[in-house]
Amino acid sequence: MTIAIIAHDSKKELMVQFCTAYCGILSKYNICATGTTGKLVSEATGLEIMRYLSGTQGGGQQIGARISCNEIDVLIFFRDPINPKANEPNDINLLRLCDVHNVPVATNIATAEALILALERGDLDWREIGNPRI
Ligand code: PGA
Repeated sequence: MTIAIIAHDSKKELMVQFCTAYCGILSKYNICATGTTGKLVSEATGLEIMRYLSGTQGGGQQIGARISCNEIDVLIFFRDPINPKANEPNDINLLRLCDVHNVPVATNIATAEALILALERGDLDWREIGNPRI
């Protein structure tokens, strides 16, 4: 199981806090991230994180490509809902790809917590044996 994490600048501290709080669960999975998000989280938590390019350089699209190949099982994407970003269309496309491929995605901490706890309970194990919901 692979979890992808991305946080816009105003949400990076929140992502670090979230990953610190759930480090014990996250450490059981493969984690990948956009460049700066991955750097900050791995420095704060010691988690081993596969880092892609920074979001502005195409890191989101790299993760999108993995979603398209069904290689991402959960996306946690803390977006800035107030200030639009230059790469906003790409961000929307990332969420679209999650819908196309039925990938559970959280864009705020409340949903992210629900997903992490569901992962721990084994509620998302169907991702490993194929996707019966499509
Ligand atoms: P970053 O990319 O983790 O490299 O900052 C995320 C983004 O802001 O799109």
